[in-house]
Amino acid sequence: MIDFRSDTVTQPTEAMLQAMLSAKVGDDVFGEDPTINQLEQMTAEMFGLEAGLFCPSGTMTNQIAIKAHTQPGDEVICDELSHIYQYEGGGVAVNSACSVRLLHGNNGRLTADMVKNAINNPEDVHKPISRLVSLENTVNKGGGCCYELADIEDIKTVCLSYNLGLHLDGARLFNALVYKQQKASDYGQLFDSISICLSKGLGTPVGSVLLGNKAFIKKSRRIRKVMGGGMRQAGILAAAGIYALENNINRLAEDHLHATQIAAALAETDYVGDILPVETNIVIATIKGRFTPTTFIEAMAKHNIKLFSVSSTQIRLVLHLNITKEMVETTIDTIKKL
Ligand SMILES: *Cc1c(COP(=O)(O)O)cnc(C)c1O
Repeated sequence: MIDFRSDTVTQPTEAMLQAMLSAKVGDDVFGEDPTINQLEQMTAEMFGLEAGLFCPSGTMTNQIAIKAHTQPGDEVICDELSHIYQYEGGGVAVNSACSVRLLHGNNGRLTADMVKNAINNPEDVHKPISRLVSLENTVNKGGGCCYELADIEDIKTVCLSYNLGLHLDGARLFNALVYKQQKASDYGQLFDSISICLSKGLGTPVGSVLLGNKAFIKKSRRIRKVMGGGMRQAGILAAAGIYALENNINRLAEDHLHATQIAAALAETDYVGDILPVETNIVIATIKGRFTPTTFIEAMAKHNIKLFSVSSTQIRLVLHLNITKEMVETTIDTIKKL
């Protein structure tokens, strides 16, 4: 089976499992799990931020961050494609009682002007208070595209002058860092909070980390407890995260290469229309003519290749560490033969 449905489907490698087995653990709600403490410290240092908070999922790290930055009735500015709006069950409303101001960016990427034009006048009692801007990098629904650092710097300038917080949903930030050859510390300087996922391209079974300054993480730790995300001897999971940060970042370039190879093969067929520009590990393509997304997915399934559709016209393939060069070759052969 060749599984392109998501980079969340990865199985832990033998070496990762060994790291998990030998993890020293303690009760993390008491702050006594040495492996979790190490992971939180290590990621904070990487980004040049003060503190980190290990959580069960990226949805939780995003939702905690939004709640920590806002008051009920505030508004969060984000792109309409963003995960926090599309795929977190309306959590911004449920958890934070905030509204969202949806913008239509460039494949999910906002500009400083778009943000500036979306900020409400705080003196106007009719309007919700604009409080937080949330960016996503890479943009999942934007085909894994990345921001230029300069564009984020411009957005940061707007946030500073209007007193808005700036959060990053960095579920696949390491893909962006590798593709753009950017530094984690550049991001730490620009954002008030950053969520990173260990369970996507980095290939761990579970876990995300929320990063920010000490006061923010202290507040976030309380919200995590309220949400039921306080885990006990979860250092076993954190050990997988430490292993992944030490071993699985540079290899993301391989996934990016595989994605461009698959996109090139799709582009040559008569049943594929537009393909979103491939920058990292995601390929989103429009299916047309002989196939619909449903019949294309069925045809691929007959060859033991799994993928999802992301709209009524588009399919998505996601590359990850369990997809080998040989599997990519098999997939390309199949795409050509269909
Ligand atoms: C996967 C993902 C998340 C978090 O998802 P969980 O499944 O809750 O860990 C957040 N943002 C983006 C862009 C994602 O792709």
